[in-house]
Amino acid sequence: MSRVYNFSAGPAVLPEEVLKEAANEMLNYNGTGMSVMEMSHRSKPFEEIITNAEQDLRDLMNIPDNYRVLFLQGGASLQFSMIPMNLMKNGVADYIVTGQWAKKAYQEAQKYGKVNKIASSEDKTFSYIPDCSDLPISENADYVYICENNTIYGTKFKNLPNTKGKILVSDASSCILSEPVDVTKYGILYAGVQKNVGPAGVVIVIIREDLITEDVLPGTPTMMRYKTHADAKSLYNTPPAYGIYICGKVFKWLKKIGGLTAIKEYNEKKAKIIYDFLDQSQLFKGTVVKEDRSFMNVPFITGDADLDAQFVTEATAAGFMNLKGHRTVGGMRASIYNAMPIEGVEKLVALMREFEAKNLK
Ligand code: PLP
Repeated sequence: MSRVYNFSAGPAVLPEEVLKEAANEMLNYNGTGMSVMEMSHRSKPFEEIITNAEQDLRDLMNIPDNYRVLFLQGGASLQFSMIPMNLMKNGVADYIVTGQWAKKAYQEAQKYGKVNKIASSEDKTFSYIPDCSDLPISENADYVYICENNTIYGTKFKNLPNTKGKILVSDASSCILSEPVDVTKYGILYAGVQKNVGPAGVVIVIIREDLITEDVLPGTPTMMRYKTHADAKSLYNTPPAYGIYICGKVFKWLKKIGGLTAIKEYNEKKAKIIYDFLDQSQLFKGTVVKEDRSFMNVPFITGDADLDAQFVTEATAAGFMNLKGHRTVGGMRASIYNAMPIEGVEKLVALMREFEAKNLK
């Protein structure tokens, strides 16, 4: 069976090379006579897998020594609680609400302290990133929280907010490893891996060492303390071992193709193809202000819900899958993560052009 072009926002397309390699190793990983799925997480081969995965991620992102890398579970959503539980020493945090995921994190944090919404783009259906150069940062804020790439709405912080010296926490679930970043700008940078890195079930948390302390909110479960996982090198309990193994393969693949500078160039090229088309189309249009456009998630509409549905149906029949926009916004969304080949985007645009020619009244 041939593969389709999968524009899903997550779980999402993974590099074919990685999947093939994993398939080859399914019954016998590296002469062990077993699959990584069947392997003890305390075994030598797995220790090598997790150690190499961490080192490759460190190399790719140039992660300084005073940051720890944790491979956790619970999805990105569990971080919505773990972050306040571990970081709210003064009981105060500032949130910038730029979409549903940031909003969920903001709402969750309210269970643990005083949480301020210091900026939002909800007034225009989250179609832009608010000006974050001079925000009313709370004097005693324990951290400032952002969702760096808004998967549903297709916006991205092109510049990080000025946190006036406060710790920055970023949900980078849908942009991690899409471009080089300066890790030193963050206190915590975390991501559910199921978009740009690997199979669902793994969360990567990159956390500055001094933020890992015993001083957490009373009642914080052992499993929700960063210290538990940092002390145990992500092996406090059984980790999502197979997922970590696939993430490790994706890190190797990224290194092989030239690292984050090369993938950024590739991602920009792909995004340009689709945005250039949208900017001149008389039928389709993008929904986000140009300067805040995501290079990972591209939402677009025709302005007519029936026509949108017809496009999605025709695209699906032609092998372009998961183009329906998020259930909360409608329209279409093409997620074009690292592993989406440029031909996928070129062919999608060709299909849109054809659809426009047939349907433009
Ligand atoms: N944050 C962002 C930016 C997301 O796109 C998503 C999921 O799509 C989440 C958080 C929630 O992730 P999870 O389902 O792993 O909890």
